[in-house]
Parts: sequence; structure tokens; C-alpha cells
Amino acid sequence: MKTILVTGGAGFIGSHFVRGLRDTDVDAGVTVLDKLTYAGNLANLEGVRHTFVHGDICDADLLREVVPGHDLVVNFAAESHVDRSIEGAAEFVRTNVLGTQTLLQACLDAGVPKVVQVSTDEVYGSIEVGSWDESAPLRPRSPYAAAKAGGDLIARSYAITYGLDVSITRCGNNYGPRQFPEKIIPLFITNLLRGRKVPLYGDGGHVRDWIHVEDHCAGIRLVADVGQPGEVYHIAGTAELTNKELTARLLEACGRGWDLVEHVEDRKGHDRRYSLDDGRLRALGYDPAIGFERGLRNTVQWYADNREWWAGL
Ligand code: NAD
Repeated sequence: MKTILVTGGAGFIGSHFVRGLRDTDVDAGVTVLDKLTYAGNLANLEGVRHTFVHGDICDADLLREVVPGHDLVVNFAAESHVDRSIEGAAEFVRTNVLGTQTLLQACLDAGVPKVVQVSTDEVYGSIEVGSWDESAPLRPRSPYAAAKAGGDLIARSYAITYGLDVSITRCGNNYGPRQFPEKIIPLFITNLLRGRKVPLYGDGGHVRDWIHVEDHCAGIRLVADVGQPGEVYHIAGTAELTNKELTARLLEACGRGWDLVEHVEDRKGHDRRYSLDDGRLRALGYDPAIGFERGLRNTVQWYADNREWWAGL
């Protein structure tokens, strides 16, 4: 029997990960540690068996109490929204760099056998053509991406210097139920469902590679099982779309027209395109299951059916 600590488990991806564990790993005791920032929501974990600890991954004293006894620690805790990092970077550096280091030190001190650091393709910057493999140089361009890159490098250093078994996953843009409506897909869906306008940055030509959150979690579970210490594993999307193409799909799914689309000034330093090569993880058996058409349709339906989840946010 495994006991698992999921930090940031009340957020979007972390809560899906915890929900997935319930199906595949029913014997596991699951602890969720989350600071409950604006992005954390206990409703995301309703009906899921777990022990909840309200706390901060920067709090070394708390971690000294909570971390020992867990067989696996998966770190989702982060400040995660690029626009907020442009408004104020300090909290991003605090949680994504210092928080990661504080958590890894607690894992090392407690002798945790396996740690997974959940990260993002944004650490590589922007790529016009082709895809990054895991050896590509880190060239982050936003404070969010730079802070995530800092956390990843700290994780690598803990593997090499101290022999901590920590693997790093880097994933593309996620979508699915329970994503805070500040990111493009839930923002557009919740606005369109209410007949409100949606803001499209710049020329709408920015390219993102979309992955359903449950496929991302399946990739993380695989890395938790077979990932090597200090190694990076990509979890790529299954649908590469410009934001304009994505907008067209969302308008169609919500039964709205282009009159609700407002072109707004581009984000500062907006990365043009992300693209990951996930051959390494696929060679280990990773195989995403949720096609974009079905995934997006189900996501729109979830927001339509669960207005009480987002109406007050
Ligand atoms: P989210 O913002 O929905 O959730 C983050 C969670 O972390 C929230 O519950 C929040 O309360 C918690 N948290 C924040 N600061 C904390 C702290 N100091 N201590 C403890 N808890 C804290 O984010 P998400 O979209 O679920 O992303 C989870 C992870 O996945 C992040 O590390 C992010 O960088 C990474 N990621 C996200 C995406 C994406 O498309 N959303 C893609 C690739 C990687």
C-alpha cells in the first residue's frame, strides 16, 4: 500500500490527479496539502477520500510534520497564470522556486522514496517550427516560466547532489473540468455561456498544443512508477491550434458567433508557439486517450452543467 502526498491538490490538475488515484489506487492513503490561494478550491475534492492539510509549501516546519511517512510526493503547488506573473512576479518566485526547494528538502530529510515535480513546456520559451526534446535549453520568457524553470533546476540539483529520486514532467496546455476561469478555455466558455464578450490577444495566431487534464495525469502516474531520478519527461498535447482556431471551436460548441470576440492588445512577451516531443514517455507506454473534439465537447458540457462551481468566482 502506498501513501501519497499531493501538494497543490485543490487546484485544477492536482484535483484531477487525486480523483484519478481513487479509481486506480484505491488502497492508497492520500494527503492533499494546499494553501488555497484564489486558484485552490475544496469543492474540487468533494466526495474524494483524502486527508486535507491547509498549508504552504514554503513552510518548512509544517512540511517536517506532514511529509514523513509518504511513499510518493507529487508537487502541483504553484502560481500558474502567466498574466498574473506579469503583474507581479514575487509570489511566483516564492512558491515556484523557494516552495519547490523547501518541499524537496523536506522529502530528502524524510527519506521519501519518489518525488515528481510537475512542470511546463513554457520553460523552453517559444519555438517557430519543430518540437523540443528533453535536452533542449531552458529559455523562459515570462516570470511564470522562469520561476518554473528555477524549480525544475532545483529538482535536478537535488537528484544529482543528494541522490533524491525526483523526476520532472513538462506538459503542454491543459483543459478540462474545474479549471479556474482565467485561462483561455474556461474563460471563453464561461463568458460565452453568459453571452459575454471574449478577449482574443493580438492577431490570434499564437499556437498551443492542447491536452486533456486526465491524459496529463496518466502521464504523471507513469512517471511516478517508472521515471528515473533527475530525468525530465515530456507529456505533449494532441491538438495543435492557433488561438483563433481554438476560438472558432469554442464559439461553435457554445452556439455563439464572432460578434462576441473582442481583439485586445497582445500580452507582453507573448510566446508564439510551444511544441513538445514526447517520444521518451511514449516509449515507456504513455498513450493519450482523449481526443480533442470529445474532450472539448465534454468540457463545455461540464461548465454548462456546473454553473454553481464558477458563477461566484
Ligand atoms: P492551479 O493554479 O489551478 O492550482 C495550483 C494549486 O496550488 C492551487 O490549489 C493553489 O491553492 C495551490 N498553491 C499555490 N501556491 C501554493 C503554496 N505556496 N503552497 C501550497 N499550495 C499552493 O494550477 P494548475 O493549472 O492545476 O497547475 C498545476 C501545476 O501544473 C503547476 O505547477 C503548473 O505549473 C503545472 N502545469 C500546468 C499546466 C496548465 O495548462 N494548467 C500545464 C503544464 C504544467
